[in-house]
Amino acid sequence: MLLLESPKPHNTVEILSNPANGDGSKPQVAPDRGHYEPSAVFLMTAVHMLGIAGIVLYPPSWSLIALCIGSYYIRMFGITAGYHRYFAHRTFRTSRWFQFVLAFLGSTATQRGALWWAAHHRDHHRHSDTEIDLHSPIQRGFWWSHIGWIVHSSSTATRWNNIKDFTKYPELVVLDNWRLVAPIVYATTLYWLGGGPALFWGYFLSTAILWHGTFVINSLCHVWGSRRFETSDTSRNNLWLALLTLGEGWHNNHHHYHSSARQGWLWWEVDGTYYALKLLEKLRIVEKLKGVPERVWSRSGSNAISNTPSTAAELRTAINLIDATESAT
Ligand SMILES: [Zn+2]
Ligand SMILES: [Zn+2]
Repeated sequence: MLLLESPKPHNTVEILSNPANGDGSKPQVAPDRGHYEPSAVFLMTAVHMLGIAGIVLYPPSWSLIALCIGSYYIRMFGITAGYHRYFAHRTFRTSRWFQFVLAFLGSTATQRGALWWAAHHRDHHRHSDTEIDLHSPIQRGFWWSHIGWIVHSSSTATRWNNIKDFTKYPELVVLDNWRLVAPIVYATTLYWLGGGPALFWGYFLSTAILWHGTFVINSLCHVWGSRRFETSDTSRNNLWLALLTLGEGWHNNHHHYHSSARQGWLWWEVDGTYYALKLLEKLRIVEKLKGVPERVWSRSGSNAISNTPSTAAELRTAINLIDATESAT
């Protein structure tokens, strides 16, 4: 999310204010502590309103709609492949330069920096749907999980202790501290290339939709859909949300086993992010995509609650075993 406050040095802010966090201890995010951040609320509201204004100022055309959708999905990939599957879960490897590309691309989605995002997300998996989950719809309601927690003062700082494996890269820390740089560069480039129509449809409207496209995984994907695995949280699998989010809708699979680069596990579980990662692997830009190991499949026989398919053997038969040669550590 956009933030107006001045960038703060990463080594003094969150570590002091949140000394126990980052090692599995309790995060300090709660609606009853702190306040809604005026700058974040204002900017979120402004981007929504400018997006709607864009439709009025520049009536829809096929090219503008295509720009809006294209801008949505390319930045969604920055979030799903970069922020989520790479920085939060480290499900594949890549070079330092492409790591930065992923962080920059994700940052253009205007959901703060990669390290902020990944550090908070690691806490979500640690405390899913418990009282101290950052954004559980079960604990604090749908709107808090969808959007409230992001604009709340208790979540605005990066939990540096939770993302120490990436703070050794100064370019990532700078990008995280200067969260508006990538969105401004992106929006300015659009304006330079296509003027007002490109700016309003390609950035403001696309970004507003992209926020909700991302946020539904925290909100809807914990209340709407089917459950293949009896995870300790309320995560769901949902085809519609998977289409909207390049594969993140297979959230119950993901909560059951979050170390896989692949979240759609069966051939029909569409996972656009994974297909793109496989392509990048063939181009030698990424490598060592982690799959779903045997022990996860065998474990599924005892706690799977979906009836299609319900046993480990059926799962193995149904899955497209393109992960066979991949590391599953
Ligand atoms: Zn979740
Ligand atoms: Zn995750």
